[in-house]
Amino acid sequence: MNNYILPNYNRINLKFINGKGSWLYTKNDKYLDFSSGIAVNCLGHSNTKLIKALEFQSKKLWHTSNLYRISEQEILAKKLCEYSFADKAFFCNSGAEAMEAVVKIIRRYHYMRGDYNRKNIIVLNNAFHGRTLTTIQAGSNKFHREGFLAKNNCDCGFSRVLSNDIAFLEKKINKNTAAILFEPIQGEGGINTFSKSFFKNIKQLCKEKEILLAFDEVQSGIARTGKLFSYEWFGAVPDIISLAKGLGGGFPIGAVLMVDKVSKCMGPGTHGSTFGGNQLACSVALAVIKEVAKKSFLSKVQSNGTFLKEELKKIKKKFPNLVSSIKGKGLLIGIELKISTQKFCILAREKKLLLVPAANNVVRLLPPLNVKKDEINMAIKIIQKCLEDLS
Ligand code: PLP
Repeated sequence: MNNYILPNYNRINLKFINGKGSWLYTKNDKYLDFSSGIAVNCLGHSNTKLIKALEFQSKKLWHTSNLYRISEQEILAKKLCEYSFADKAFFCNSGAEAMEAVVKIIRRYHYMRGDYNRKNIIVLNNAFHGRTLTTIQAGSNKFHREGFLAKNNCDCGFSRVLSNDIAFLEKKINKNTAAILFEPIQGEGGINTFSKSFFKNIKQLCKEKEILLAFDEVQSGIARTGKLFSYEWFGAVPDIISLAKGLGGGFPIGAVLMVDKVSKCMGPGTHGSTFGGNQLACSVALAVIKEVAKKSFLSKVQSNGTFLKEELKKIKKKFPNLVSSIKGKGLLIGIELKISTQKFCILAREKKLLLVPAANNVVRLLPPLNVKKDEINMAIKIIQKCLEDLS
């Protein structure tokens, strides 16, 4: 391993040289990639349309900063707004940055209405929103906070509630509550879904109490679940959402989408990003959106996701001592195991399938969204073989 890199990752000793579609290549081997750079490479590796967009823009203009108008950013913002609930978009470079902006905008919205104490945001157990100082406070993993906060056990402006417990959540709401924020499907927390009634009741509460509904769509957005945005499945229209990961298909870009009334609190100078929304990133993201927003593309993600999930459920029946449940939507799928997820991922990797562990003993399957049916079948066979070896 390299002596010059900060050892903050527990890296696997594999170096990939190139990639194509759902496949990653080392010097001697090829791997079926069901990790997609953690839900990022939504159109697979070396996608020709994305290469073309990147190549074209790279010869024209990369970056001018937000001192000036940026046509590619304006077109991307329009597209994302037309496809969603939103009226305005802000661009940054990552998921955590998008979440930082979401938190700032939520607090500023109430401040500008003269509601100076409405700072508190209700978040869920098993939440993950990134690794910046604010987002580790919004997330539920205590280890992510250990040694990093200025004050121990401070009230950092977030209250945590149990998922699917609307009565408890309602009790937590008070005059200082600014928003309810959660991932419509939790990724890092173990592919946790919520009942439709949970969404409906939260939306109702937000309306009644004049608090904002915010979704973190960093992992669940950009067609990952078979809808362009995962909130579309649950009948609760948000006021503000974050996006990243799949938005650039591997090129770093994040975004925040919001409704008009929320956007009004953010005038010139209130927030910014040097790189955010530059020509290069927006050109690639536009090529991604052009592809993944197609009805035919979305329905393929849905049918492939359903197929994969049903096949995994059949496997679960064969191995009741090893598999607890199959969870998720579209191609955001989790296998909840009764054994070590680490061990399972190592075994799958030995058989040339790349998976990603999540919390709560879940292994994630995050293939490229344009994964082929025969590649899904290959992955299913390897997963079955891993379980056979372990039983
Ligand atoms: N929010 C969610 C739901 C995520 O899954 C992630 C990353 O995994 C983030 C935020 C943070 O994104 P990034 O790693 O791009 O900062």
